[in-house]
Amino acid sequence: MRTIGVIGLGNMGRGMALSLARRGFAVLGTDAAAAARDALRGEGIEVVASAREIWASCDAVVLSLPTAEIVDAVVLGPEGPLKGARPGLLVIDTSTSHPDTTRRVAAALAPAGIDLVDAPVSGGPKGAHTATLTMVIGGSDEAVARAEPVLAAMSATRVHVGGVGAGHVTKIANNLLCAAHLLTAAEAVRMAREAGVAPERLLAGINAGSGRSGVTQVNFPTWVLTGAFDSGFTMKLMRKDVRLAESLIGALGLDLPVSAEVARLWRDSAEAVPDAEDFNRIVALQLDSAR
Ligand code: NAD
Repeated sequence: MRTIGVIGLGNMGRGMALSLARRGFAVLGTDAAAAARDALRGEGIEVVASAREIWASCDAVVLSLPTAEIVDAVVLGPEGPLKGARPGLLVIDTSTSHPDTTRRVAAALAPAGIDLVDAPVSGGPKGAHTATLTMVIGGSDEAVARAEPVLAAMSATRVHVGGVGAGHVTKIANNLLCAAHLLTAAEAVRMAREAGVAPERLLAGINAGSGRSGVTQVNFPTWVLTGAFDSGFTMKLMRKDVRLAESLIGALGLDLPVSAEVARLWRDSAEAVPDAEDFNRIVALQLDSAR
């Protein structure tokens, strides 16, 4: 693996491309938006105008795209690798996507000898820039082993959770919990504040106890209590992830009432907290200071 393509140079893909280049890979990137392409020019990344060039000249291609529909269109559409890719091409999808799409796309690529590994990430744009992402990985043992040098150049922690699509199932479950924890932590902070305990002291107590979560340990101290709300992850993307969870739960025919209520609260908050806002702003449903 020498030449790596990155399709999608947004908040996450930009940092991943730079991390790959720092590790010595030749990196080719592209994005549908000219502004995203221009932002990376002159930073050691060769930026090209179309994905077709990337598929034709790379050993592995990393996707960092907004939705499952876009992943489908980029990989199986007319500009995709089925029309001309290097033999043994490896596709690494780091987008948060739907496992059904992932499995369908992987099945369509397999007859052409192209392997797909799903490796969705946590850690935000900062983790992408510093190569400290966490990845939950789906794929065959062989494909994941081939992908390892590329994955290692972008991440600090990797957990192989199963076959193709298992990474996306796990990521959706992770983000459903994060979405739920933001709502429940905001309610706990509000309750404690009304009962005379300051948020900072409350969190110190919770983080020493069994109620702690990534939200109480990272999100509240970093983005909520500081008022920064600059995580680089938008309401729009988290709403998409909650919808992915809803869709998966529905397809499985499961009745999960707490998850359904979490999905309703995220959906119904669209007017109060617009899509472009930082996803931590969902706490504004309970906390005035976030408005
Ligand atoms: P983003 O919107 O900043 O970047 C996505 C990029 O894809 C944009 O630059 C867009 O122009 C480009 N794009 C859209 N359609 C395209 C196409 N057809 N061809 C080429 N490029 C195209 O999003 P992001 O925050 O970088 O997130 C990317 C993925 O990573 C999403 O699936 C998201 O859910 C996931 N993710 C994001 C974060 C985060 O903190 N931002 C964290 C974990 C996972």
